[in-house]
Amino acid sequence: MEIKVAKHAGFCFGVKKAIEIAEEVAQGNREKTYVLGQLVHNEKVIKNLEDKGIIFVENINEIPQNAVTVLRAHGEPGTTYQILEQKSITKEKNLNDATCPLVTLVHNVAIKLKNNGYEIVIFGKHNHPEAIGTSYHIKGKDTFIVERAEDSDLVIDYIRKNGFEKVAVISQTTMSVYGYKKLIEGINSKITDGKFEEIPLSLKDLSKKYGFVDTICNPTKQRQSDTDELAKECDVVIVIGGKNSSNSKELHAKALEYGVESYFIQSSEQLQKEWFDGKEKIGVTAGASTPDYLIDEVVERVKEIANAEIPNATI
Ligand code: SF4
Repeated sequence: MEIKVAKHAGFCFGVKKAIEIAEEVAQGNREKTYVLGQLVHNEKVIKNLEDKGIIFVENINEIPQNAVTVLRAHGEPGTTYQILEQKSITKEKNLNDATCPLVTLVHNVAIKLKNNGYEIVIFGKHNHPEAIGTSYHIKGKDTFIVERAEDSDLVIDYIRKNGFEKVAVISQTTMSVYGYKKLIEGINSKITDGKFEEIPLSLKDLSKKYGFVDTICNPTKQRQSDTDELAKECDVVIVIGGKNSSNSKELHAKALEYGVESYFIQSSEQLQKEWFDGKEKIGVTAGASTPDYLIDEVVERVKEIANAEIPNATI
């Protein structure tokens, strides 16, 4: 029996940077350090940061006046910065913005499309902070968000009912590459007055009536394509990630799409011996919010309970 660990697994650079910023700020701050929302969708990482004195709040009203504050990688709407400014929390003084540059890129894409007359549809999760943050750069709560690749009819209805001149679809950075393709294909198979064509990220040509921009980030794509390989090669695929981690859930769904047995776990304690009975190859991958030590713990535990070997460790 052998274990294959995905080459691109665990923390992406955006999450890594956000955690580094939060730790550095907390270390150099004698007062309390506040983080708005879960810095990373991983319960163990959050607990570890709480132990270092960081306070996580879900509601911006819980952040006191003048407090040292960190904003997470997922990106925030402009209103967050305005409210913080009213509390004397600004980038010049005590606000540390860990928004991932690849999320900022999506915000900029959305703003430019909007300024060029496009109605924007987001392929993303309604409750995900990134989709919410991006939507506030467009139409706020009224921004149309489509969650499932199968829901192309909803997009077509929305376009028909409103008679938009130009429409562009963008994606949350952590969505499924396959799902995005399927959504666009679904729309194109039914729409009667044109086709959605790709608009390159440079946004140089904004003359198309219907377009879509590939805004899924590269770290997400790498994790998904590695999971494809594991699912093709292995008899069982273990996906490690926080319960609320959108990209980790996508990896698990991807493995299941291939028909391979797959389990979504948060830690090594959840592993069960019978999952590995009669299996030859075990694949291990992890979402962008999973720290390396959790991956190592899972691999070690699989080795123990399944008597497995790690040949060259990664795919
Ligand atoms: S998943 Fe992508 S966009 Fe999100 S923090 Fe990581 S690198 Fe940035």
